[in-house]
Amino acid sequence: MPLAIQIQQFGGPEVLQCVEVAVGAPGPGEVRIRHHACGVNFIDIYQRIGLYANPLPMVLGMEGAGVVEAVGEGVAHLRVGDRVAYASQPPGAYAEVRVMPAKCVVRLPQSISFEQGAAMMLKGLTVQYLLRKTQPQGGLQPGDFVLFHAAAGGVGLIACQWAKAMGLQLIGTAGSDEKCELARQHGAAHVINYRRENFVERVKEITGGRGVKVVYDSVGKDTWDGSLDSLQPFGLMVSFGNASGPVPPFSVSTLAAKGSLYVTRPTIFTHIATREATQAMADDLFSMVTSGQVRIPVGHRYPLRDAAQAHRDLESRATTGCSVLLP
Ligand code: NDP
Repeated sequence: MPLAIQIQQFGGPEVLQCVEVAVGAPGPGEVRIRHHACGVNFIDIYQRIGLYANPLPMVLGMEGAGVVEAVGEGVAHLRVGDRVAYASQPPGAYAEVRVMPAKCVVRLPQSISFEQGAAMMLKGLTVQYLLRKTQPQGGLQPGDFVLFHAAAGGVGLIACQWAKAMGLQLIGTAGSDEKCELARQHGAAHVINYRRENFVERVKEITGGRGVKVVYDSVGKDTWDGSLDSLQPFGLMVSFGNASGPVPPFSVSTLAAKGSLYVTRPTIFTHIATREATQAMADDLFSMVTSGQVRIPVGHRYPLRDAAQAHRDLESRATTGCSVLLP
């Protein structure tokens, strides 16, 4: 039987177990995929610890690439043998083989490897909706400043490149000088080591005292207050993750006091709720990659069985770029 990484309880990396699972035929609207690579994401950690709770037992993982092995009734856009990739809800990607809803799955261009495909779907589609669709009033124009936290991570390094391609001046924060340098090499116009420097003061210096139009904040608890203080009047706070812990409750009147700010808390899963939306976003992502404007930074590879080590590395801030598991 195929192998999968399953949890039976919430907890540390030690709850990840490599088990054999029975995988049946796809039902109506589903496909069966044999993975060549699976992406590792910070959301997998939220699910492992129960911050985002799912029924147990569960197979983790929301991103993968491989080949279609079987197609269920009513699926018209995929055939057996297609090279494919996906970002999925529900989880289940840490597996040699899985059955999943076909509407999440798109064909992978020949020039994009399985490893890149597995690393880029959840993270790259996130950058797509953040930079293209999650914009302040009046939109983003070339030359505008945006602040992007954790700029040397998986989502972060893709965002640095994409923002540069849009002509934006991305100010990237990261947790070490080496990570800052990496973000700069990937297109960040300015970098701040937020473990050593006060990022609010540095943002003010870089923007001539004005502040940025948008903050893209996936760090959460530790950066929330400083992020609001980095915005210009009418600026947009995009809170899209909680790597340091959830954002504490706040008073909406804070937004008035800090300059009529806007706040949104988006998730990719609203954006990829339909097959048409997923395909349109994926087409944009694939064109950024195949044109060479965005390189998918696969920084770490692990055998599927070593998923626990991949989690330890990701949550201890030891990784840069994307991590993949290889079945
Ligand atoms: P990353 O590779 O970016 O890893 C997370 C990074 O967060 C770390 O490398 C670290 O970078 C930084 N960080 C800051 N504080 C902490 C802390 N206390 N503990 C651990 N890490 C910390 O992960 P991903 O690319 O997978 O995801 C990036 C973020 O985007 C995550 O928060 C994720 O949940 C979010 N996300 C949200 C989506 C959405 O639609 N809402 C979709 C996809 C991802 P450094 O050392 O440089 O500070």
